[in-house]
Amino acid sequence: MKSFDIPVYYKSPLIGQIKNIRSASDPKKKDPSPTLLNFGNVKFHIARHFGFCYGVENAIEISYRTLNDHPNRNIYLLSQMIHNPLVNADLLDRGLKFIQDTEGNQLVPWDEVHGDDIVITPAFGTTREIEDLLKKKGIEIAAFDTTCPFVTRVWKKAAKLGETDHTIIIHGKHEHEETRATFSHSAEHSHAVVIRDMNEAKALSEYMTQKKSKPAFYKEFEGKYTPGFDPEIHFKKVGVVNQTTMLATETQAIADFIKKSMEDHYGIEEIRNHFADTRDTLCYATNENQNATLDLLQAPADLAIVVGGYNSSNTSHLAELLEEKFPTYYIEGAGCISEDGSISHFNQHEKVIETTEKFLLNKSPLQIAITSGASCPDAVVDEVIHKVLSLVQDHRNPEEALEEVKQNYSNS
Ligand code: SF4
Repeated sequence: MKSFDIPVYYKSPLIGQIKNIRSASDPKKKDPSPTLLNFGNVKFHIARHFGFCYGVENAIEISYRTLNDHPNRNIYLLSQMIHNPLVNADLLDRGLKFIQDTEGNQLVPWDEVHGDDIVITPAFGTTREIEDLLKKKGIEIAAFDTTCPFVTRVWKKAAKLGETDHTIIIHGKHEHEETRATFSHSAEHSHAVVIRDMNEAKALSEYMTQKKSKPAFYKEFEGKYTPGFDPEIHFKKVGVVNQTTMLATETQAIADFIKKSMEDHYGIEEIRNHFADTRDTLCYATNENQNATLDLLQAPADLAIVVGGYNSSNTSHLAELLEEKFPTYYIEGAGCISEDGSISHFNQHEKVIETTEKFLLNKSPLQIAITSGASCPDAVVDEVIHKVLSLVQDHRNPEEALEEVKQNYSNS
């Protein structure tokens, strides 16, 4: 895969070396097991895959290059480039401005953005409406477009569904930038509806099979369907696409559920005329990171740490998976861990920050599973490991622990 030029301070001496050792010994990524980083009194089980993905590195490279190449121009990003507070803060520090926040609220009025300004499209892509607005202003879009190719792949799949008159059901978070962009691009080709989870899939099936009324649909799915949508007409043929970062198991369960509802309603022999059997549109990074996290669940860990932005969809799903087995702390970085041994972590279900005292159990060796989201720099994971080490007495030094990793994988 292509390599990108990203600022050196996002790279990591520790995690970077572990990733290099693992890819040298397993270039085809056949071994999904975590890496053991053994500090004696504390052992880290590090997921096989995590951290910056193709789309994020591409977006970072273009954004920093644009800042370097155009010091005298106004440079805007349509919204956060990726969902990582450290990266976004660094870009703001360098003078870049965000036009909208993550929910699409305006931060810079459109009439302050002019034709000779640079506007970078983030990795999530953007809506057709915003693309048209930029074009009308005479702003050059293509040269500063960091939309991830795995997102445009979803749009192409939606277009294909539209060609065969299928309504596009988008499994995603309707407020998320990527899903707003996918909804807008899908709407050019067909009608579309966004569902967030299995509960909404079940609710939708009541309208697909006309068990519930049209007015109830408009109320229940307000803001999540295309203009002119008629549930009595537009649910006769459907296909499913996904936000690229959803939970793979949920995505599959939703597609299976919708197919079964259509089979029950129209009969199994008619299903081909009503349901497009397509594969999910999750990206490679989501699949690799979630599979590596499932392997991490097999580690003999006492607790888990997940590092990433709290608005990062892919990171939230890694935390969800680990919560099934371990006490899991979802943190933005080393700053969430205090000298007194407490940790401030995000409870994504209640959407609150909680503090847990003495989260490092009084145990030796203490075993910690760790991973991070696709928008989290490896350097931040390094800092978290070093912060934990600073709270543990008498541990081996990082060079020794790393040497053991080298030996473990040198003959494999
Ligand atoms: S998570 Fe997937 S879709 Fe999103 S930027 Fe990364 S590679 Fe692209």
